[in-house]
Amino acid sequence: MENSDTNAFDDLTPPRMNLFSVNKLNYARGDRPKVDCILCGVKDKDPIVDNLSIAETHLSVVSINLYPYNPGHLIIFPKRHVLSIVDLTDEEALDIHRLTTKAIQILSKAWRAQGFNVGYNIGKNSGGSIPHIHEHIVPRFPNEAGFLDVFSNTRIVIYDPFQMKEEIQRLWNAESSESEKEK
Ligand SMILES: [Zn+2]
Repeated sequence: MENSDTNAFDDLTPPRMNLFSVNKLNYARGDRPKVDCILCGVKDKDPIVDNLSIAETHLSVVSINLYPYNPGHLIIFPKRHVLSIVDLTDEEALDIHRLTTKAIQILSKAWRAQGFNVGYNIGKNSGGSIPHIHEHIVPRFPNEAGFLDVFSNTRIVIYDPFQMKEEIQRLWNAESSESEKEK
């Protein structure tokens, strides 16, 4: 039965940008949970870590980035706490690659992302803030830069990552069940 209250993604409109919900702002201001590694906390489902993961395999986790640069900004990381891609096994590297292509297909189809930046920050001075290696997938949209981006280098509008989690998780699971049917 069709639910008339389905969200805007069903008609392929790009995601609406929202301000952070107010009750999540403490985290965004740097009030981080006291754990050795946030990504290990996500993997272990540590209750004091906000869990934005949308999918996992036996080797890797796919999660919304807590500080999204754009709507749909995902990270994919190995479950093992390793610091560099040179430490990944072939199996982990292949697993991350497969999850990357699936994420790109989902974001292209459902959100009409027209481009992507995919990559790792590795080591000091790379801009990365979490040592546990993680790949960023940042969807790019036409006309996304507003004048504030250009003139003040400030992105004032941030899509709520918790809302994003629900939406992408739904798309991810729908895609998974579709590919199950194809088998
Ligand atoms: Zn870790």
